[in-house]
Amino acid sequence: ATQPYDPDNIFAKILRGEIPNDTVFEDEHVLAFRDINPQAPVHVLVIPKGEYVSWDDFAAKAPDVEIAHFVRKVGEIARDLDLVEPGYRLLANIGGHGHQEVPHLHVHLFGGKPLGPMLA
Ligand code: 5GP
Repeated sequence: ATQPYDPDNIFAKILRGEIPNDTVFEDEHVLAFRDINPQAPVHVLVIPKGEYVSWDDFAAKAPDVEIAHFVRKVGEIARDLDLVEPGYRLLANIGGHGHQEVPHLHVHLFGGKPLGPMLA
């Protein structure tokens, strides 16, 4: 079972403006910002503003319109960062084995260089 949402997680604090972030895109439902410890020349995190612990929680509970909006925005943000033509990578870590560190759904967007094969 998914853990309850922790309103003190670091991305909740970012959404409340309690911690600064390097915003790439924001609208009513979505925030995209640069990862503080980038693993590629472009490393952006895209999060829904709703309180979802993980991709699993989002897929199970979010209204279809929120899911559609989120998926479209991830694609638009990648296009706006000029990542589509060279290519890029999306990643969502989920839970313990997935090594998810922050319990608010985030999609990692990596690009800006050839990334090599997927890591185990
Ligand atoms: P996870 O392992 O949960 O998928 O990844 C969490 C990501 O959040 C990591 O890549 C980490 O560098 C990033 N991160 C953690 N704290 C902060 C923060 O305060 N600001 C930003 N911009 N990124 C953070």
